[in-house]
Amino acid sequence: MRKKIIAANWKMNKTVSEAVTFLDTFLLELGEEKRVDVVICPPFTALAKVSEVLSDVSNVRLGAQNMHWEKPGAYTGEVSADMLRELFVRYVVLGHSERRSLFGETDAVVNRKTKAALAAVLKPIVCVGETLDERDAGRVESVLSTQLSGSLADLSAKEFEEVIIAYEPVWAIGTGRTASPEQAQAAHAFIRAHLETMAGKAVADKVRIQYGGSVKPANTAELMSQPDIDGALVGGASLEARGFVEIVKHAL
Ligand code: PEP
Repeated sequence: MRKKIIAANWKMNKTVSEAVTFLDTFLLELGEEKRVDVVICPPFTALAKVSEVLSDVSNVRLGAQNMHWEKPGAYTGEVSADMLRELFVRYVVLGHSERRSLFGETDAVVNRKTKAALAAVLKPIVCVGETLDERDAGRVESVLSTQLSGSLADLSAKEFEEVIIAYEPVWAIGTGRTASPEQAQAAHAFIRAHLETMAGKAVADKVRIQYGGSVKPANTAELMSQPDIDGALVGGASLEARGFVEIVKHAL
């Protein structure tokens, strides 16, 4: 049985003080809930403070939204895995569609980052998903296969099991337009089948696959009831503490 994992991707939102205000409410309302893994991914600037607040909280983990694959060095503006580790970051979102479309990240880049994250004992949340044009052209499966094969190339079985996949159809991100539970389930089942070809059934059965794309309290339960949907990566609706608690509770 795969434990559900709900992650908040705050993107370029929340100052340090806004992050603290969110956590005051969020942690109070969430209480001791441990049946779902909960991850908060603030911007880099808020990681240290959120880490400090979470230091005596056992049921919420810290995630980053990106990292560089290299060891510390001359990479202006970048952040290394070691820097994240020191702040007790456990997860890192990699290859988000905004990173791919706005910052030119390719599957090869995502693969380097994934390997570097795993080497640093960070759990990568590797994002894949098709654009609307690709869906309309009947290319969902070929796009997902290419992204998965490229982003997860050359991982050992043990490494594979540490990876979380986020299926995020680009047309559903921040648009208010959610994939139907059936559309999402079909994509997740395809992803799991593809993982099986890459790493075998035992491994594919263990990998958690999140859905992302306009998840909100009202649509969470139905999406999470699908057999291959193991959680959610939540953007906009994770910025409001009470709403995000509702999403976590609907994932049970
Ligand atoms: C995301 O950016 O990962 C995301 C799914 O955003 P939203 O929930 O706002 O669609």
